[in-house]
Amino acid sequence: MLWANAGSNCSLCRQRLAQITSNGRAAVIGEAAHIIAESLDGPRGQSILDISERNSYFNLILLCPTCHKLVDKDTASYPPEKLHMLKAQHEMRQSGQRLVESIEVAQAIDHGNDRDVINFANNWAGFVPFYAKLFSQIQLTQMKGDDIDDALIMQAQEWHDRRDRLKELLFIAGEENTHIHRIASWERHKRNHEYIELGQYLTPFSFILDFLNPFHMIANYSDELWGAFNISHEFMDYLRFKYPELKKPLRSD
Ligand SMILES: [Zn+2]
Repeated sequence: MLWANAGSNCSLCRQRLAQITSNGRAAVIGEAAHIIAESLDGPRGQSILDISERNSYFNLILLCPTCHKLVDKDTASYPPEKLHMLKAQHEMRQSGQRLVESIEVAQAIDHGNDRDVINFANNWAGFVPFYAKLFSQIQLTQMKGDDIDDALIMQAQEWHDRRDRLKELLFIAGEENTHIHRIASWERHKRNHEYIELGQYLTPFSFILDFLNPFHMIANYSDELWGAFNISHEFMDYLRFKYPELKKPLRSD
């Protein structure tokens, strides 16, 4: 899947890659690089992802050996969000889709402006009621020991789509721009939960959006998530104060 979607080119420099060398001559071997390292102390390894998530398609990006070394050495220039975006853009390019959006993305990163924060915040506001509903439905299913039905699977798929979109929007807006210093409940929450502290998340947004599997995340981290989810209201109130253009109601109640 990774090779097919990446079109057998390096996702960064787009050099043609060969999966195997039949005659041992100058073929560049592609490498499935980890976005979040396989271990905690590896490049970009500070994350709550478990080992199976770390080795899944979603956490791998096809690179040539040179680019692989580069992104693992210079992790400051290649944070997870950037690699996810490069991977998505590369796969889109390979699938023939026009890259109008990605050009806008690149410009937004260069000029980082308020519009991006507003865009993220408005999308988050739409995510909140959806997330709350999915959360309680998954918890109920797990408590009752019921099987996961088709309706829930479809909702989980929607969660994936929304999460990917929000993650990219947060990256474009820059987490720094949505960060609030001295928000006591978030600092306390980080201290109380080792995984959040380890992940060095600036905001509850990036923490919540870091998960890849909604069933796994709710089964194992429901307290941390629910707490972060509630604290996100405080961040949103602040953003609404800072950006009066944020008109949408930010609370679902
Ligand atoms: Zn390359």
